[in-house]
Amino acid sequence: MKIEEVKSTTKTQRISAHSHIKGLGLDNDQRAIRNAGGLVGQEQAREAAGIVVELIRRKKMAGRAVLLAGPPGTGKTALALAVAHELGSRVPFCPMVGSEVYSTEIKKTEVLMENFRRAIGLRIKEIKEVYEGEITEMTPTETENSYGGYGKTVSHVVIGLRTVKGAKQLKLDPSIYETLQKEKVEIGDVIYIEANSGAVKRQGRCDAYATEYDLETEEYVPLPKGDVHKKKEVVQDVTLHDLDVANARPQGGQDILSIMGSLIKPKKTEITDKLRREINKVVNKYIDQGIAELVPGVLFIDEVHMLDIECFTYLHRALESPLAPIVIFATNRGRCQIRGTDILSPHGMPLDLLDRIMIIRTLPYGMEDMIEILRIRAKVEHIDITDDSLQALSEIGNTSTLRYAVQLMTPANILARINGKDQIEKEEIDEVRDLFLDAKSSALLLKQEDAKYMK
Ligand code: ATP
Repeated sequence: MKIEEVKSTTKTQRISAHSHIKGLGLDNDQRAIRNAGGLVGQEQAREAAGIVVELIRRKKMAGRAVLLAGPPGTGKTALALAVAHELGSRVPFCPMVGSEVYSTEIKKTEVLMENFRRAIGLRIKEIKEVYEGEITEMTPTETENSYGGYGKTVSHVVIGLRTVKGAKQLKLDPSIYETLQKEKVEIGDVIYIEANSGAVKRQGRCDAYATEYDLETEEYVPLPKGDVHKKKEVVQDVTLHDLDVANARPQGGQDILSIMGSLIKPKKTEITDKLRREINKVVNKYIDQGIAELVPGVLFIDEVHMLDIECFTYLHRALESPLAPIVIFATNRGRCQIRGTDILSPHGMPLDLLDRIMIIRTLPYGMEDMIEILRIRAKVEHIDITDDSLQALSEIGNTSTLRYAVQLMTPANILARINGKDQIEKEEIDEVRDLFLDAKSSALLLKQEDAKYMK
């Protein structure tokens, strides 16, 4: 097992509902296979997205963007994520909602810029000196903490390593222990530990390094500088936003991200335009020198009609930049007002921007598709569910949305547990249907009972 983890600022929660999506699921002729890559149905949109992927690969999408237009719950997010996967396994995907730009604290364009930079990746190649060894021992040493001895903290961890040069014991920083536990590293696994003397430490990374335990004298001795055990090319994937953050709050250290995080002086605590410009300069230099490679990712902006004219103007300009990700907008609106103006326009977007956009339509799912999608989600979430229940859930999805049906699966599973079952049966689906209201029924109820509510 290799431990190389960069603290990334990716927005993970929002895409966890789509963890089953692996790609567009197209065959060699770019035709959609009904159920492939984690996607079901929506064939036409998937094939259109396939063409977009081809255009991106041929570098013909510069200055252009995509709009996914269709009712809620028709897989627009899922499709955008599939496009990112098609572009490569480590391509950044940054989802956001149009209304996110309205914050009392941050400027609208600032929010957009931050998300733009979250969607642009940088692959940094670096030669590191590392220990490579098989773990033979892992002993955390606990120390009583200062609160009168209540609770102990791990002060360091001794790791036995069988390296190419023989057996070694390394005394490592406690943060390593957390990393090892998180990565589920066990005795017998092969790991790499950076051989930088000078104790580099950064969250979530296995690069804290202090001393080596001398088996004969039973003492910890500092590692001689340059005691190379193996040179290894390490590739790190970061986003421009990660670099912005690293530079705004530099932590110090020996690896390239820390070094890149201390290039700009005086050190700032805020991400400013100036800081970004300087980072771009450094990034371009690294690209020219072949140390780093640019990986444009996908920025997905849902509910694009929530953006206003100021945002559209900004986006229009940003799309032209050489450091731009692929932008995929989504909306379920037809003709509506462009916010900040009194102009009516298709999807609430200015016409000059629409001119640069390829529109892909998504259609509501049929029952068969919904059952398949729900079945995939149940499997991913390790939920056992009967065919009857799947059928009942997809009927709920049909009258409300697929998203709502997917969401009901977890409460139904909890009910099944309470009822002493290890799989969801029809009874549980009926029960959750009575317990909760989907948006449409709730709105209907509010309308019918209008007189009873306070005004
Ligand atoms: P939209 O953005 O159009 O509202 P979405 O992609 O956010 O749609 P949800 O409504 O959240 O989709 O869909 C619920 C779940 O179904 C998600 O987990 C999503 O990944 C999944 N899903 C949607 N469409 C498909 C599809 N065609 N194939 C497989 N899974 C899908």
